[in-house]
Amino acid sequence: MPQSSPPHRAKDTRRWSQRERARDLLAKEVGYVRKPHGGRLRVALAFPNTYFVGMSNLGFQTVYSLFNAEEGIVCERTFLPPKTELEELRASKAALVTLESQTLVREFDIFALSVSFEWDYTNVLTMLRLAGIPLRAADRTAHDPIVMIGGAVTFVNPEPLALFADIIAAGEGEVLIPPLVKAFREASDRDDLLRRLVAERGFYVPSFYDVKYADNGTIERFVVKEGTTAPATVKKAALRTADAAEPPATKIFTPETEFGSRFLIEIVRGCANLCRFCWAGYNYLPVRAFPKDRILELARQAKSHSNRAGLVSIALCDHPDIEEILTSLVEMGYSISPASLRLDDLTPTILRLLRASGERTITIAPETGSDRLRRVINKTMTNDEILAAADLIFSTGFDNLKLYFMIGIPTEIDEDLVAIRDLTMQLRDIMLTHARPRGQVGRIVGSVNPLVPKPGTAYQWLPMEDDTSIERKIRRMHSLMADIDNVYFNIKSERHSFYQALLSLGDRRVAPAIEAAERNGGNWRAAVKEAGIDADFYVFRDRSGDGVLPWDIIDGGMKDSFFRAEADKAMKAEWTLPPKRQQENARLLAMLHEN
Ligand code: SF4
Repeated sequence: MPQSSPPHRAKDTRRWSQRERARDLLAKEVGYVRKPHGGRLRVALAFPNTYFVGMSNLGFQTVYSLFNAEEGIVCERTFLPPKTELEELRASKAALVTLESQTLVREFDIFALSVSFEWDYTNVLTMLRLAGIPLRAADRTAHDPIVMIGGAVTFVNPEPLALFADIIAAGEGEVLIPPLVKAFREASDRDDLLRRLVAERGFYVPSFYDVKYADNGTIERFVVKEGTTAPATVKKAALRTADAAEPPATKIFTPETEFGSRFLIEIVRGCANLCRFCWAGYNYLPVRAFPKDRILELARQAKSHSNRAGLVSIALCDHPDIEEILTSLVEMGYSISPASLRLDDLTPTILRLLRASGERTITIAPETGSDRLRRVINKTMTNDEILAAADLIFSTGFDNLKLYFMIGIPTEIDEDLVAIRDLTMQLRDIMLTHARPRGQVGRIVGSVNPLVPKPGTAYQWLPMEDDTSIERKIRRMHSLMADIDNVYFNIKSERHSFYQALLSLGDRRVAPAIEAAERNGGNWRAAVKEAGIDADFYVFRDRSGDGVLPWDIIDGGMKDSFFRAEADKAMKAEWTLPPKRQQENARLLAMLHEN
């Protein structure tokens, strides 16, 4: 595509200070890429949060390496400046630059944002504003970069960001980048590029669709605009198999980030457990294991930069060679931090290897305290199994246990909240039994979050539990968990979850509220009022009668009939047992092969 020049270059007196800061950060990094720009497609890749947060995000690092692995692309990073620098930048009206060459972001061909969390939506707008790019796609011209939004949240429900994106990349970077590069090479102009991309799997151009609403405010249908040749729904792009794929791993090491110089690596993608609330479980299917030899080779190469390996996978032990991988990492001298472990991951060998690597805390997610409620959400473990696992954990020498719980689950009653306390007390007893002879008592740290029904799950039609009821439950949890020695609980507020739910479940009509929240510094109550949005409509409404849901524009591969059957079984507290899960996994795999 011919490259257009910006109409003018602003005289930028404060760019030197951004440049100094960029050089400071680069001086502490190992592994960044510098390429000449001439003749290459230029991508400014943004993480809509600070450098400190973004550089510990494996998805962001992976997209950076995937782009730069292409000879014809130069990809440079840019981040939301930390608070004081942000204020300085705003006051000086200086424009955002990239880290590697400190070039103005608005001079790039593509401004790609990797979005992992709903709370970063306002930061997306702040970064567009700082870069000097119009916030709405409709206001951009041929002189502006193409704004492409990707990342985990966008292939679950991209609609709240639809009006800000020229393109939404729905799916996994490994599959999306090659057709993007090809389309850019062949396109004659911006419109031609968008037309070429919609012919490819995973590229959603929101401006190619009108949304028709019914009188009751629900979506009647997405209408493809005439002459655009956009598909009726956009199929998510995913790797068919990871057998020969390069495992995503930290390529740039820096001490200036949340996880320090930890070597992050993805071992296996997906989880076949299909818990009914879990968007990650449903959206990263089928389960795909990365090649063991490559994982170990990358770990060997990274050893001179890091002593700590962070294994990024939601179901680590679904990798057939996990014990061999852990053994080799321990032999290389790594201490190993797994993400949360599934209960069936906790074999004696795996725990022994993790302990031998120096790990002192294990994280598990019982989600609820009662077996009945665990059948409602399809978490296929029982309290007896959790207690047996805790015995194994503490007898292996671990000091601490981290637990994740949810409240506001359908059919939940007060006994279920009491059950969270009772289960925690039993776990504490086990911890004390093993800790006292050693003379060192650790702690149990619990985290309690109100359930936010997520798009692309069996709970996608559910309203969130109403605020009075959830506030009562939060108060009850505070009183149940107060003043227990060696037990610390963090219980999230209802309001926090309410606005997160609005951003999760919203459609493109929510965009003015995001704009207002960005302008007013994150006061969501005022933003929703200013934008005239009925937030309760999105959060507290039963959607089971809706013809079309906002996120139906992306076809993630799961069938509605499957989700509806799972939702019915939830109300009857019935599990969907593993063989069914395996079949569902096999069906998804077959579907990916067909397409
Ligand atoms: S086990 Fe964990 S990752 Fe897997 S589906 Fe359930 S909640 Fe999601």
